[in-house]
Amino acid sequence: MTDWQELEKEYYMQTFERVPLTIVRGEGARVWDDKGGEYLDFVAGWAVNSLGHCHPVVTKALTEQAQMLIQTSNQFYTVPQLRFAQLLVENSCLDKVFFANSGAEANEGAIKLARRYGQLKLNGAYEIITTSGSFHGRTLAMVAATGQPKFQQSYPPLPTGFVNVEYNNIEAIKSATTERVCAVMVEPIQGEGGVNLPDDGYLPALRKWCDQKGILLILDEIQTGIGRTGTLFAYEQYGLEPDIMTLAKGLASGVPIGAVLAKNSSAVFAAGEHGSTFGGNPLACAAGYAVVKFVIDNDIAGRAKEVGQYLIKGLEGMKKKFPFVTEVRGRGLLVAMEFDSDIAQPLVMACLERGLLVNKLKPNALRFMPPLIIGKSEVDEALGILDGALSSAIS
Ligand SMILES: *Cc1c(COP(=O)(O)O)cnc(C)c1O
Repeated sequence: MTDWQELEKEYYMQTFERVPLTIVRGEGARVWDDKGGEYLDFVAGWAVNSLGHCHPVVTKALTEQAQMLIQTSNQFYTVPQLRFAQLLVENSCLDKVFFANSGAEANEGAIKLARRYGQLKLNGAYEIITTSGSFHGRTLAMVAATGQPKFQQSYPPLPTGFVNVEYNNIEAIKSATTERVCAVMVEPIQGEGGVNLPDDGYLPALRKWCDQKGILLILDEIQTGIGRTGTLFAYEQYGLEPDIMTLAKGLASGVPIGAVLAKNSSAVFAAGEHGSTFGGNPLACAAGYAVVKFVIDNDIAGRAKEVGQYLIKGLEGMKKKFPFVTEVRGRGLLVAMEFDSDIAQPLVMACLERGLLVNKLKPNALRFMPPLIIGKSEVDEALGILDGALSSAIS
């Protein structure tokens, strides 16, 4: 039997800190490894498999589209792209869509759009304010935008034009707003940076400030969007509307795709100013349409909210038994559990041995981001396994 993990060492760039598990098949909230072992998946492709693994709605859309038309270039009109764009616009506060292939690429598009807006409407303002602890992707510009030195330090010089200020601090944004600033970009809830929820007043105050200054508010909803936090988009919970929003991760439940959405007033790209070879191709858009339609028609966001509250309550309940659990936080099915010491890695391994996949968010924190279609029985199963893993951490 092939040792895939040895093979990886020999042939793949050693850039990922991987868990020793080779996944070969998935169905719903479960995956199977190359030795037939079964696991409950609370990682979900990093908050990507919104409908779980190989949901029939997704495989059907992919199969039918693959037999019909896969790629044409954006020199031509294609039906899945336009149907999907219409669906997103009709179910959000934004007016126009551009499709990319990943989150980072969607954010690049959003930054280019904001700079073009600055050029046309704000006397050439080009700077983007971002916040500490954020995560916006791995391209050079998105590494510069990301407020975490660990993603930046290996790659100087970084593209300029990003100003990083303290998260959840509106005064910090205000004092960084100069004539050069054209936009502020934040995640409504920081995912990768720690499942950090802002104070209730932060995002509304930010919206107000951007209006006052005439600058754009870009919401990176790549992780929070498509029902993950209990509403289709997280901005709905804060009573505000962004000028530009980016999506990716859960947008097609595993098929690579990203999207930039904008209000008509900020959708200033003219012909030739932005583009993509694969972005918005029929295959990815057919999957995305099927996923978002299913999410809307079946109120998957509402389900994520309810099951998420159940998960958070269950995790909270463990604090008593395991006093080294210092905090449980999250919204919908984006949840973190923090500890008073660096035990996340051994816990990931202890959960793995017991048949549960979880994500190490930080050395002292785990992240839970299961498929949005899970039920309470699967949460109970995960909580049982976690209880065993936490018990093993103290013995
Ligand atoms: C994952 C993520 C990205 C980057 O997406 P990729 O598809 O990995 O490029 C950007 N922003 C946020 C908030 C993310 O969670």
